[in-house]
Amino acid sequence: MTSAAWLLAGLLATDAGAPDAAASAVAPDAGCAPDAGASVLTPLKLGLVAKQWQAQRFPSSGAAAAIGTCSLGCLQGGATLPASGPGYEVIRLRRNRRYGHPDLVAYVRRLGVAAKKAKLGVVVVGDLSQPRGGPTPTGHRSHQTGLDADIGYTAPKGVRAGRLSAARREQLSSVAVIDLKTHKPTRSWNPRIVKLLALAASDPAVDRIFVNPAIKRMLCEGATANAPWQLRVRPWWAHHDHFHVRLKCPADSPLCVPQAPPTGDGCGAGLAWWFGEAAGPARTRKKQTEAVEPEPQLPLACGPLIGG
Ligand SMILES: [Zn+2]
Repeated sequence: MTSAAWLLAGLLATDAGAPDAAASAVAPDAGCAPDAGASVLTPLKLGLVAKQWQAQRFPSSGAAAAIGTCSLGCLQGGATLPASGPGYEVIRLRRNRRYGHPDLVAYVRRLGVAAKKAKLGVVVVGDLSQPRGGPTPTGHRSHQTGLDADIGYTAPKGVRAGRLSAARREQLSSVAVIDLKTHKPTRSWNPRIVKLLALAASDPAVDRIFVNPAIKRMLCEGATANAPWQLRVRPWWAHHDHFHVRLKCPADSPLCVPQAPPTGDGCGAGLAWWFGEAAGPARTRKKQTEAVEPEPQLPLACGPLIGG
């Protein structure tokens, strides 16, 4: 079997289905969601593998390529997102997760410029991928191929573009705009957030954006109900303090395994599931791991840590 065939055989089976039935135990749109894809590796073994990927401090050489799936893959020839740029600021640089496929870096920069032009405040950017992608020891199941980025809904108070000290950049954390217990907006919610989401989701490079179900509900019920970008915005657990952008597989990455396109606009019965008993308490993360990866192997093209 060629490496590409092996990769596909191993990985195409990994994305769980996306049942729409409100009573289903599996979240709608579960395949390759932000934290989906629990490995059958023991947590210890998975942790050891992830630490090897984390230890790679710089991108690999070679042409840029996203390889594998968002939750079982890696990044070759990654680009670095500068800490600061027009309209955006990256926080927590010490995590060393501001790398991505050049398409992702370009996307974040575009969003910063567009948000600035629309006077939406500073776009605060959290994790992209590790320098070579791969699994992370903490925080994510996805973000492995350089196509995922976490972005704040709103900037913490006092953050001004181009005026963030190194120390403050490390201390900042994203602002919760939804109360997870009540599903209600917090005081930090503001109408600019809808405009930012519209900008973020309108970009044709975007595959999906994950938001808290309460935010999706507002988008379904508001003036944005019939917006063409609505189908790209999908509800997922947590995501009350940041949204998660995932880009489509880039044209230069034949080993990137795309997700099935989202079905429907994500409103209606599929959305109701999130507020029913099947989804569990709002804070529960247990069910996120139900989209199981049957093959715990990274793609062959990712080994050994993408060629040095
Ligand atoms: Zn994320």
